[in-house]
Amino acid sequence: MADTKNYDIIIVGGGPAGLACGQYSARAGRKTVIIEEMAPGGQTMIIDEIENYPGLEKISGYELAMKFEQQATGFGCEIAYAAVNFIKRLDDGSFELTTSDGTFASPVVVIATGAKHRNLEVPGEKEMIGHGVSYCATCDGPFFRKKKILVCGGGDSACQESMYLRKLSDDVTVAHRRDRFRAQASIVKAMTDAGIKTKMNTTVQSINSENNKVRSVTFLDKTSGETYTEEFDGVFIFVGNIPQTQLVPDCEKDEAGFIKTDSRMMTSIPGIYAIGDVRATPFRQIVTAAADGAVAAHYASEYIDERNNNAY
Ligand code: NAP
Repeated sequence: MADTKNYDIIIVGGGPAGLACGQYSARAGRKTVIIEEMAPGGQTMIIDEIENYPGLEKISGYELAMKFEQQATGFGCEIAYAAVNFIKRLDDGSFELTTSDGTFASPVVVIATGAKHRNLEVPGEKEMIGHGVSYCATCDGPFFRKKKILVCGGGDSACQESMYLRKLSDDVTVAHRRDRFRAQASIVKAMTDAGIKTKMNTTVQSINSENNKVRSVTFLDKTSGETYTEEFDGVFIFVGNIPQTQLVPDCEKDEAGFIKTDSRMMTSIPGIYAIGDVRATPFRQIVTAAADGAVAAHYASEYIDERNNNAY
């Protein structure tokens, strides 16, 4: 079609994985576009401080995301602000993407759509979003300065974000459903050293409100079997993520719904790659997302060469 925008590589999603892929792909001379619905940077944008990105001692998530974007666009990667509605595989094995900004086409699509936060699914949670329930410490933490804060979850996010909240309040408690944290040992140590209280083997039963504000939380102590209620002003929920795979329903996934790839980041559908938080991988970091992007760009470029050679 005349108004179709044609590229060598289309990347869906502009988090660290997508931006790194865009950088490597454009630098390799491939006509590349990242299609991003919101602002580039993904979940990195809401991280207060990053201290484990190699080569950068301490940097805010926003600043790091800006650097990723500038580097990618500096090498000629385009960014299109649009929602991708549908990806269609054509008879020749290439792809057509229907978006809110028209049709895009390419022989390669890289899925870098990341993951969205999971809900706790307890009474009071949905009702109190924006009234004391939050999924983003840097966005909403300042509303709870010097207040009593509960963090739910036991992974890196819960433990790391509790440390940001501890800078705002002396009274931060992390409640985790098991007897040990899933988070990296170094993060757990930093959290306990920061004076954050913990409730282990404890599940949240309900988030209770008064005058349209969070007032208290009811817990189940799984060791004693007792249920009790404690006052809290803010509840921050970090109980994992749900991969955003709706655009590729036919790609093979693992039991948790993350997209399976080979070591070149190719999915079960030739020409579709998956990188970053949406991909089935045992360790998710900004550095591993960026590495996924570089690997995908390299092998996607090889795939395009092979396709072109086979066409003759
Ligand atoms: P995660 O590693 O999947 O951890 C989710 C936590 O929530 C687990 O402790 C889990 O408990 C708990 N949970 C899940 N469903 C629950 C429910 N219904 N009720 C109560 N608790 C529930 O998720 P994440 O912490 O968001 O991290 C996501 C990825 O990003 C990970 O790969 C992580 O390593 C990475 N990350 C890295 C850093 C860093 O390196 N600085 C920072 C943030 C995130 P169980 O333990 O019992 O399963």
